[in-house]
Amino acid sequence: MRGMDDTLAPEVAPTALPPAPGADRYCSLDFADTAATLPVGQSYDLLAAPESAMRWLAAHDLTTPDVQLYEVCAQRMRTLRAHIRALIAARVDTTTPPEESLRAVNEALTAVPTVPLLAWDGARGLRRVQAHPTDQAVNHALATLAADAADLLTGPDILAACGSAPCDRFLLRTHGRRHWCSTRCGDRARAARAYARRSGASG
Ligand SMILES: [Zn+2]
Repeated sequence: MRGMDDTLAPEVAPTALPPAPGADRYCSLDFADTAATLPVGQSYDLLAAPESAMRWLAAHDLTTPDVQLYEVCAQRMRTLRAHIRALIAARVDTTTPPEESLRAVNEALTAVPTVPLLAWDGARGLRRVQAHPTDQAVNHALATLAADAADLLTGPDILAACGSAPCDRFLLRTHGRRHWCSTRCGDRARAARAYARRSGASG
């Protein structure tokens, strides 16, 4: 469908959409939505480069400032995101999830512990310590995201795909029958419907 958006194509890089409904409750949903397809052939990917991937992790308390992220780390994040997206899509469509995506999430889940382990400290005795040394920071972030995705995918919330093409983000349908990941998508869907109505009425 070619519509009014074509004439309004911005020259600047597309700005990222705000977090979708439910993304504040599930970091894995926000993770799945870190890339999006926008109208007029535009798109963005917050994990495209190590620097932006690092910013996303820091904004979600999934890393510390002393951690350095490399392209191979960003690539691992994008790979896990693809698998989580495949699992969410299967849940939305009530189809069988891809075996390799289940395996990938389980591998991330079990690679490192995400809960504080029990340790013995000569001075203070037994205590729980968060085990994520710097060299395992990415493994820890991926494990946390995988665990959150497992909760999201098995929870009672209604997962949905944004109903405003070409947007390919997901959301939780928490507020009545909201079908869009953002007001920007909602406005576009309404404009497209009005445009189609006008075109139809004149025919
Ligand atoms: Zn959307």
